Amino acid sequence: MAECIFCMIANKEIPSKIVYEDDQIICFHDLEPQAPVHVLIIPKKHISSLDDITGEDQELLGHIMLKVKDIAKELGLENGYRLVNNCGEDGFQTVKHLHFHLLGKRKMTWPPG
Ligand code: 5GP
Ligand code: ZN
Repeated sequence: MAECIFCMIANKEIPSKIVYEDDQIICFHDLEPQAPVHVLIIPKKHISSLDDITGEDQELLGHIMLKVKDIAKELGLENGYRLVNNCGEDGFQTVKHLHFHLLGKRKMTWPPG
């Protein structure tokens, strides 16, 4: 999709610090980390938000979820981590390409702000 920053990252049109990549997804470090470890996991396919997934995306979403623990292990998050999806305006989603934040290496609080 034109002018989507995460599509551009997935297509290597703009650089990112890639942690993991396969044919369906890419994981890279967040530009403004909110924890000592803060990476984003995105599908290479452009989907605007979690609210826009369809039945066709079932395998893709399952694939993302199954990769989380492998990526967390690779990043040394043996003590736990937080996986976050911000969806839509109230969810404070700023980039309109589905992504999951994986944060770790600090104690998280609850509820989030
Ligand atoms: P959201 O608020 O949409 O859930 O999160 C978007 C995230 O993308 C933010 O944490 C922001 O720091 C990150 N981000 C925005 N633009 C870029 C970029 O060009 N490169 C990288 N690596 N991260 C970005
Ligand atoms: Zn996109």
